[in-house]
Amino acid sequence: MTDSALSPDTPSLYTGRFAPSPTGPLHFGSLLAALASYLDARAHHGRWLIRIEDIDPPREDPTAADSILRTLEAYGFEHDGEIRYQSQRHDAYQQNLDRLIHQQQAFPCQCSRKQLDGKPHHGNCHCCATADIAWRFLAPEKGEFCFDDGLQGRWCEDFSAIGDFVLKRRDGPWSYQLAVISDDIDQGITHIVRGIDLIDSTARQALLYQALNQPLPAWSHIPVALEANGQKLSKQNLARPIAADSISDTLFTALLWLRQQPPQTLRGAPAGELLSWAIAHWRSDALKGLQGIAAPDTFCRD
Ligand code: GLU
Repeated sequence: MTDSALSPDTPSLYTGRFAPSPTGPLHFGSLLAALASYLDARAHHGRWLIRIEDIDPPREDPTAADSILRTLEAYGFEHDGEIRYQSQRHDAYQQNLDRLIHQQQAFPCQCSRKQLDGKPHHGNCHCCATADIAWRFLAPEKGEFCFDDGLQGRWCEDFSAIGDFVLKRRDGPWSYQLAVISDDIDQGITHIVRGIDLIDSTARQALLYQALNQPLPAWSHIPVALEANGQKLSKQNLARPIAADSISDTLFTALLWLRQQPPQTLRGAPAGELLSWAIAHWRSDALKGLQGIAAPDTFCRD
């Protein structure tokens, strides 16, 4: 082995992830997020982790996590490490919340979102710490957060539009923002590839990274798949689950949707072969600047 050779234990410089919330079976839109994050990670010889974001049981379907994992496996995705479940990570989230409280960057708030509407800042939420409180992050009142998205280019968000966002809800659950950054930090995620519907969360998440003194990951937001009426394909608007019996066709269609150009000779090829081709030929540039692309009809609502 030469000095420059990487041993199998050398940590990769790239760690990506797919982090579905188990609210229903995998649909075409979530397959695209899984596929883009997977191809980007593997094309960079990176690691790719799966994390089930099960922090909000009332919104979840108890069979969804297993069904998503089975589907990913059937589609040929190979993940690194153990699958993580956010429902088992309360202590880690509490530790980060305690640190933010200690730094006076989190404060208890009794006000509802409605009461805070239009005046979302700390000064407007006078309350005492009773049991019925949410914990909010004390966000800057002025200024903006800008970053260079790998696909969407320079993207800025004004802090005045963000306000003091929730870290832990009044009714108990952890917020998506606190949970997602806690795990992305803890799992050493360096590159986040996800749908552009989440791009508005990036500034909030960056504030949390900075408050916890952590380096920012690189973000790339892929376009969302749209229904004919322009709405995002989602579990909420009844996108069809992707089929278990037409894996090769569905993967081929997903690659075309991601503006990759698989050769016709690969039509009908096994999933593993399609994925190997797609890793070797991945061009994320093809998605640059795109925010929404129509989904094929077969994947839209029933
Ligand atoms: N769990 C989120 C979702 O399913 C995705 C989180 C993320 O990629 O940051 O929408």
